[in-house]
Amino acid sequence: MTVFNEHQQELAKTLRKSADRSDWTDWKWHIRNSIKTVDDFERVLGIRFEPNQKKIYERTLRKFPMSVTPYYLSLIDPDDYANDPVFLQSFPSEEELKIGRYDMSDPLHEDEDSPAPGITHRYPDRVLLHISNTCSMYCRHCTRKRKVGDMDSIPGKSDLEAGIEYIRNTPQVRDVLLSGGDPFMLSDEKLDWILTKVGEIEHVEVIRIGTRMPVVLPYRITEELVEMLKKHHPLWINTHFNHPRELTASSRRALKRLADAGIPLGNQSVLLAGVNDCQRLIKTLNQKLVKNRVRPYYLYQCDLSEGLTHFRTPIGKGIEIVESLRGHTSGFSVPTYVVDAPGGGGKIPVMPNYVVSWGPNKVVLRNYEGVITTYNEPTSYEPNYCDRECAKCNLQLKEEDAEEKAIGIEKLLSDWDDTTSLTPEDNERMGRRDDAA
Ligand SMILES: *Cc1c(COP(=O)(O)O)cnc(C)c1O
Repeated sequence: MTVFNEHQQELAKTLRKSADRSDWTDWKWHIRNSIKTVDDFERVLGIRFEPNQKKIYERTLRKFPMSVTPYYLSLIDPDDYANDPVFLQSFPSEEELKIGRYDMSDPLHEDEDSPAPGITHRYPDRVLLHISNTCSMYCRHCTRKRKVGDMDSIPGKSDLEAGIEYIRNTPQVRDVLLSGGDPFMLSDEKLDWILTKVGEIEHVEVIRIGTRMPVVLPYRITEELVEMLKKHHPLWINTHFNHPRELTASSRRALKRLADAGIPLGNQSVLLAGVNDCQRLIKTLNQKLVKNRVRPYYLYQCDLSEGLTHFRTPIGKGIEIVESLRGHTSGFSVPTYVVDAPGGGGKIPVMPNYVVSWGPNKVVLRNYEGVITTYNEPTSYEPNYCDRECAKCNLQLKEEDAEEKAIGIEKLLSDWDDTTSLTPEDNERMGRRDDAA
């Protein structure tokens, strides 16, 4: 297994003459030597841009900064970089300055759904806790592009404590997602402290970490880090591979370390025009992830953040991709394709239609091959009328705390609630009723 191949050796020496294997496998060396200017990018990769083009790149960097780890940069093929998936994810494009009509700086309204410093509380039982505002590599397709390189919003210890305090005071939170930036930019000690503090909260049942380190800086996944993480089970990790090219020997080794520590691994890809908008590519990626014990979790539709217009595909592309996966390959190689609703509505799953039609006695379905089939509904189903009195129910869910409220469509379907419709708050027709009253 080559961790420091010839290309990487040459590249490392353009950064530091003395660079050797122990530097290359030291994650902090990569952070110190990350490439942040167009000049350095040219020098290290041994390429030259047109002077005019270079000016445009530099102008783009003034709005959206660049940072690429030497490791991630070493995956770029210098002889054919223009279409290179790693290049496209890490190097600025002039297209970033073209703000589209529908673009927003905070499309997911994360700043608004923030009841405490560093907290985004959108769903009933889980929160995001932003513990770092920096990354080792700045993805050009970052949904939080507005904050990239903004040193002022690095959460300090008192902010972190306030965020953790919010979780402590909010008993419905059973799942905490450590996010950022990249949480693995913090030292092992600081992460250990946060994981301990959050883990001590009685109602927190599971902690998740979202990190791109296995992709852009796999040497961060050290034995020491993993030994520390192991103490904090149940701990889940989601990472962010977008292209099969990113699954290098070093990446695979990092994944193995995490999986061997008993950490369930998931992957969240973003569908990106010109990078991975291809059925065969996504299928290959997901199969390789599964081979490395990573479960494809989400495939995201590209958000409406400013500077991402050139990465967006139609939603139809994503549906076509799911169509090419479901049934064609292992079920656990199929991620859920989601659109994160602009305005903060959260993730909405989107998929092909499999229900062709429906009558009182039969459902007509189709499979991935186009076979159309029927499912006969049971003739003697006794629906379980639910009044939320679990103690009296046959189903033996003897949970004292099973009484939290249902919201949304779940509430419309429920037996115990009389709500018959949901109406937008600013509905004009309802407004007229109120006026008349
Ligand atoms: C994605 C996300 C979550 C987690 O959602 P899951 O579907 O449980 O993975 C939680 N909070 C916010 C704000 C999110 O964007």
